Formats: sequence, structure tokens, C-alpha cells
Amino acid sequence: MATTTLAQTEVENGQRAQPTKYVYFFGGGKADGNGKMKDELGGKGAGLAEMTNAGLPVPPGFTIQTEACREYMRHGAVSAQVGRQMEEALAHLEKLQGQKLGAGENPLLVSVRSGAKFSMPGMMDTILNLGLNDQSVEALAKRSNNPRFAYDSYRRLIQMFGSVVLEIPKSAFEEVFDAKKKQKKVKLDTGLDAKALQEVIAEYKKVVKKHAKRDFPQDSHEQLIMSRDAVFRSWQNDRAKHYRRINNIDDMLGTAVNVQAMVYGNLGDTSGTGVGFTRNPATGTKEFYGEFLLNAQGEDVVSGVRTPVPILELEKIMPDVYNQLREITTRLEKHYKDLQDFEFTIQEGKLYMLQTRNGKRTGLAAVRVALQMVDEGLITKEEAIFRVDPNQLYDFLVPRLDEKKTKVEVLATGLPASPGAAVGQIVFTADEAVEAAGHGSKKNSVILVRGETTPEDIHGMEVAAGILTSRGGMTSHAAVVTRGMGKCCVAGAGDIEVNEKAREMRVKGQVFKPGDWISLDGTTGRVIKGKLSTLDAKPDDPELMKFMSWAEPFRKLGVRANADIPRDAIQARAFGAEGIGLCRTEHMFFAEDRLPHVRTMIMARDEKERRAALKKLLPMQRSDFIGVFRAMDGFPVTIRTLDPPLHEFLPRREDLMVEIAVLEATKPKSPKLKALRSLLRRVEELHEVNPMLGHRGCRLGITYPEITEMQARAIFEAAVAVAKDGVKVKPEVMIPLVATLNETVNQSAIVHRVAQEVFKEKEKTVDYLVGTMIELPRAALVADEIAKEAQFFSFGTNDLTQTTFGFSRDDVNKILPTYLAEGILKQDPFAVLDREGVGQLVRMGTERGRKTRPDLKVGICGEHGGEPSSVEFCHQIGLNYVSCSPFRVLTARLAAAQAAASDKLKVEGGRTK
Ligand code: PEP
Ligand code: MG
Repeated sequence: MATTTLAQTEVENGQRAQPTKYVYFFGGGKADGNGKMKDELGGKGAGLAEMTNAGLPVPPGFTIQTEACREYMRHGAVSAQVGRQMEEALAHLEKLQGQKLGAGENPLLVSVRSGAKFSMPGMMDTILNLGLNDQSVEALAKRSNNPRFAYDSYRRLIQMFGSVVLEIPKSAFEEVFDAKKKQKKVKLDTGLDAKALQEVIAEYKKVVKKHAKRDFPQDSHEQLIMSRDAVFRSWQNDRAKHYRRINNIDDMLGTAVNVQAMVYGNLGDTSGTGVGFTRNPATGTKEFYGEFLLNAQGEDVVSGVRTPVPILELEKIMPDVYNQLREITTRLEKHYKDLQDFEFTIQEGKLYMLQTRNGKRTGLAAVRVALQMVDEGLITKEEAIFRVDPNQLYDFLVPRLDEKKTKVEVLATGLPASPGAAVGQIVFTADEAVEAAGHGSKKNSVILVRGETTPEDIHGMEVAAGILTSRGGMTSHAAVVTRGMGKCCVAGAGDIEVNEKAREMRVKGQVFKPGDWISLDGTTGRVIKGKLSTLDAKPDDPELMKFMSWAEPFRKLGVRANADIPRDAIQARAFGAEGIGLCRTEHMFFAEDRLPHVRTMIMARDEKERRAALKKLLPMQRSDFIGVFRAMDGFPVTIRTLDPPLHEFLPRREDLMVEIAVLEATKPKSPKLKALRSLLRRVEELHEVNPMLGHRGCRLGITYPEITEMQARAIFEAAVAVAKDGVKVKPEVMIPLVATLNETVNQSAIVHRVAQEVFKEKEKTVDYLVGTMIELPRAALVADEIAKEAQFFSFGTNDLTQTTFGFSRDDVNKILPTYLAEGILKQDPFAVLDREGVGQLVRMGTERGRKTRPDLKVGICGEHGGEPSSVEFCHQIGLNYVSCSPFRVLTARLAAAQAAASDKLKVEGGRTK
């Protein structure tokens, strides 16, 4: 069989394929590539090319494109072509600079950095000062007139090259360095002088020889080739793989390698380095904002060893450089049409731009900058809508920590369960919280710290400024309740040991007692030592209003709130909720004055006793419903019949056992003992192994129909009373946790019967609906059946996620961190709707329900209702509304508007990251 080579085929076909261009040069005012070539050049390489083409002073260099990395992955080496093109580019660079790599009196030194299409901060490797060897280090010492700087740069190169390229453990170098500091009796790295650093270099070389069985390469070209390949290899290191899994980045993309002439900001007082923003990233104010240090390297600015100087000072010290920097960064902002975050270095009076990218900013700044840029004609109103991440709108609704004034010591990081900031003194029980919080003019700020919260803590949660728990996830009691209250909560901070009995919390070897101050950041999950100041919330900020008025006309999804009490309903309306999508009536039972009646109802031996207790609860529920209906003033209010397992209303079995044992030993004749024994018996009867799958939801109303009856009566009596006052009411009664049509029929029959009874008694009728929650896979599967009875659906995606995955909502935190770390799950499915599985059930349930009842109104009321990606999904599958806690209403409104606007404008998720 004849074999044909590629070259022969091309000749036969009469055409010559272009050889692959692996290496793209940038420098001297022009670049081979441009900003659009992120696939080939990576984000960094594309940015360097774009800045070079724009005529900005960028240290010159070249980018070896991602195809070379893919080649390296396939064959374990790059082709000869890559090597040849790299040498050509290096020769070009040497010519442009008038220097030789690692040779001569003024040696060229370069950095070698990774740069993938999507930013993967810190995941891959970098080598700086490449080109230094025993000769060039002396030349650098002489030319810079700073031997210490030269030797320090050299020892850094050996260290970086050793660990990255030769894979020598970092600790081997650290041991040498630490020993030298000890020997010289200095604390900081900067305390070692040139001579000491020369000694370190000699010992580092021995480390290389010992571990790598070879000498540190003195040939700069060899250094470069080995470093390039090491960066390609670093694409496959565990950190990078892990990061890609979490962020859904394709493993086959590969990284580019950027080789760039080094510039130094530490060559004396005409050199320096700094970072800045074109507008203030905290407030959005249009001002030049940043910091710099004279005679310093980049890491000195961020490490906190020296205090950087405000960038405006640069105007006095180097006015020409300052003006050039202003002019360049203004140009960059116009070019990228967004706030820029830039890095620069001044080497002996000459300015170099090292990086520019769209800057991260607070929610307040994001809104303000978006408005400004529309005013300035840089972007359109439609583009502006996408410049704010919906989650960032929290910033307007909750206080924030002011981190400028105090040093921040983070004790632990838990789940950002409910956003905002809270600063207060620690308490360990709800009663303690009430006592310490005080009232009237003598109010104190307290943080309730618990292993986890239970419904019995509600009075303490109510008065606390913030809640911290060491266990529990994003849908734990603490998380759900605080989000409803708009109160800051950090949940599941596993590093913190809470001992409620000893009234102490231990973390990082420190012990905290009641009265000690801590600060919580519920937006990031940080627990901070001490008393930070806070900045006020701005829910009615006029700029926010203006921004929302641009976004809102696009929105198709309705946005309702999950609110249980009149106060939350009023709050929700203020944030723009168009009704209540979930009123959890059991939350109304948890109030301190109601719990005894609920307990009597549960303890009742027969229906008569139970009805007597329910009668006491009826007026309380009715008055709450009246408040909620009034607050919603004509908007629909979805009220769910009682859901939680009954034992949740009773004391803990273990506590009762202890109490009984103590009384038996000390006061065996006490009448309390008898009562406690009977309580324990009932608690044991109600005890369930799997309460989440147990006696709850509609099962409760089916086994004790009088509960549903009482609730329906409270709802309709309230509705009629409010309607008689001329306020429009639209009650929607919702039956939870159904799996079958028969359950739905059973419960809705009770509701309809009671409605008619009340209308007859009160001689007034109101329109109402009876619907179901779809929170079990079976319900989604037989949704066409259930829709024969149900007049609306609301997906309870908390339970639906629980039952679809088979993960317990309350215990998932034991598993989830590992699942996320291993990339088995990309996101917490209780926070971000799992589109593939749970989402499929939501889509299917909606379609099947509407087959039976084409105008079926469908919403979602799990925690996902306020999470932007889940809201987008709900829009895409044609739900009517989402419902979320009041403090997420704004976020849901913007997310829904963005989802609809991107349909219309064909914008591809253009949010500012
Ligand atoms: C749900 O399951 O999604 C829901 C809203 O109900 P709950 O969280 O009260 O179980
Ligand atoms: Mg539920």
C-alpha cells in the first residue's frame, strides 16, 4: 500500500496549507494578534495584544498559542515548529530591546506566564526573572546599582524554577530561607542583605542538585524552553483540573504562554508600581482611584508590608507619568466601555501598563457606573441592564461592613446564608438574646451563636442583629428564617465549635464568651473578630429606582414574596413584590404566645380536645391573615396549610428524659413529673426516624382534618372581613406535599366546604383558588391527574430537590463540601436549581399540568425563586411567577428582566463579572 505524506498530498492537490502560527508577537506599537483572539491567545495574551495595538506602553513579548498546549497534551512535547517560531520571536524581542536574553551588560530578563481563555486565577504557574544566571546577575547588580535587588531576583528565580519546572517541594527552599533569617536574626525577608542572599543562592543550588539530580540551568534558552513546557504541564495539575470542573471550563482548551520582557519598579526612586481603577469600585464615583509605592515590586503593594500611597500623590512626584497614566486609562475605559482595573509599573521614569480588565465593583458602584456610562453615551440602556449582577442588589437592602477603619481578622468562613452585616455581642441562647438585647432606648446589638437554630429560638432570632450557626446548610432553619427577616446569617461555619452548655465558642485556638464582640458578613459568609462599623442600607436609592425602571419593562415573570407575617408582607411590597407566593402558616404558630396552644392541640387525646385547642388558635391566625391581605392590597396571597412534622412543636426527647431523671432523683413526688412523663410519651409517639419524609404536609391535614378546617376558616373569615372594608383580596389556598390526586381532592374538599360555610355565615363571597405544591417527583409525574383538581401549581423546589436527589435538606452539609470539592456536583442544588434533574421535573410537571388545564398558573416558591440562574430557567420554561424571600425580590426582578431582555436583545449573558 502506498503511503502518502501530508506534504505530498498538498502538492498533489496543488495547494499549500498555511503552517500553523503558534507564536504571536507584541511590541513596538503593534501586535500579531488582537483582543478578540481569546481562543488562541488566552485572555491575558489577547489583552496584551489589544493594548499594544492601541499604542499603549506594554512591555513587549510574545504569546505561544493554546494549540501548542493541546499538542503538548497529545504528544507530551511540542513540535519543532513551536520551538523554531519561539526562537524567532525571541530574536525579534532581543532586537527590539537591544538586549540579549540573560547575556551582556544589560541582560534581557523575561516573565513566563500562563493565560487561558477563561481566567483561572492562581491555578497555573508563573516564572519571573527568567534569564538570570551566575553572570547576568552580576550585570544586573551593576546596572541597577542595587546588588541586593539582583541577588533577590536570582534567588526567586531558582526557587520558582525549582518548584515549578523541576518539581522540587517548596518546603525544601523555604527551610533554607527560614534558616538564613534565623541565623541573621531578622524577621522579614527584606532584612536579608546582598551577602546573605548570595549565601541563600549557593544553598538553593545545592537543593536543586540534591532533588533534581542536575544543576540549575545556566543557559537562558534552556531555562525558557523548560519553563514554557512546565506552564503547559500546569494546565493539567490537580488545582487547575479542579477549578475547571467547578467552573465548567472545557479540559481541552489548553493555556497559552506569555513571554514578556520584565520591567522593575524597584530600581530606585524614579521607579514604582501600583494598581488602580478608572472609577471608585466601592461607590462608583467617577474619580481616579488607586494606590502605588515608589521603589517597589507588585507584591509589595498587595502584601501589606508597606503602606501604599493614594494614586493622586503621583501627580506631585511624577506629573508626566501621572498625566500619561490618566490619559491611557481613560482611553482604555472608552475602548472597553467599562470600568477598568489596571496594573502599572514605572521603571526609571518610564510607564508600563501590565494589565487591564473590567474591574470588580460593589452593587452600589455597579448601578451608578451603569447609569453614568449611559449618560456619557458609552453604552445603551439595554446594555446597562446587564452591567449589574442581580445578586449585587442586596447591597442596597442590607447594611454592609465598613472594612476601611479596622483591621479585619477572619475567624472562620461559613455559608453566606442571609446577606448583610451584623456586629454585636455574642449570646448563646434565645432567652439570653432577649435579655441582652434589651428594649426601648437601651438596646444592645447581639449575635445569636448556636450549633443550629430550631423553631424554639425564634424570639431570640427576632431580637438578634445576626445569627451564626456551626451546622446546617443554605436551607437550614436559620438560613430560611433569617432570609425571610432580612437578617444577616452565617450558617454552617464548621470551624467554629459551639458549646451552648459551657456558653463558649472556640475557633482558631481562641475562646469566645458571652459579651465578646464579633462581626458577621452574611454576603460572603465571613465571621470576623471584634467590632467593625457598618454602612446603612439604601433601599430607596434614586439611582437604583432609575436603573430598575430601565430593566423592568422587559420582565415577563411575575415576582412574589415568601412572607408569613404582616410585617414581612409590607416589606415585600416595598421591594416590588406582586403578591405572596408562599405564606408558611406554621411559622405563625411558632410565636411564643401560641406555642402552648399548639402543644395542647397536639397533646389532645381526642378530636374534641383538639378542636378546643384549635379554637384558641383560630383568632390568632385570622388576625395575621387580615394583616397580610391588607398589606397585599389586591395582589394574590398564597397560603399554605400546615406543613411541618408535629414533633417540631414539642420539646426535645433527650431534654425531657434528662429533666425527668433529675426530678425522679430529687423530687419524686412532684406533680410536674407526671406531666413531663405524659409529655414524653406523646413525644415518643410522634417521634419519627425520617421526619422529612413523615407526618407532614397534606398528610397532617388528612390525618387531622380539623387542622385544615380551622386554617381554611381563618383564611376565609379574614378575607371576608378585609373585603367588607373595601380592600380587594385574592386568597389562594395551597396544599403541600401531595403525591396523588386523591390527597389533593381530600384536602381541597375541606377548603371548599369551609369557604362556602363562611360565605354563607358572613353573607359575603370572595374569589379564591385551591391549588397544590409540587414537591415530590411523583406529583410532577402525575401532574396531569393532579391538575384535574388543583387550580394552580407551585413548585416547592426545596423538597423537590431533597426528594429527587434523596439528599436530606438538613444533613446534606456533611456530604456537599466533598461533592463540590471533587467536582461531583458543580453547585449546591439547594441554592441553584439543578436544571438537568429537578428542572426537568419542573418542566415536565408544568407541561403535564397545562395539558389538563391550559391556563394553569404555575409558580415556584423554593429558595431557588430568588437565585438568578434558577429565575432565568423559570423564565425559559414559561412559569408565571417566582416567589422568594422579601430581600431577594429585587434580585429576582432584575434576573427575570435580564432573562427576558436577553431573549429580545440576543445578548449573551453580558454581565459584569
Ligand atoms: C419547598 O419545599 O420548596 C417549600 C417552599 O416548602 P418548605 O421549604 O417550607 O418545605
Ligand atoms: Mg416544602
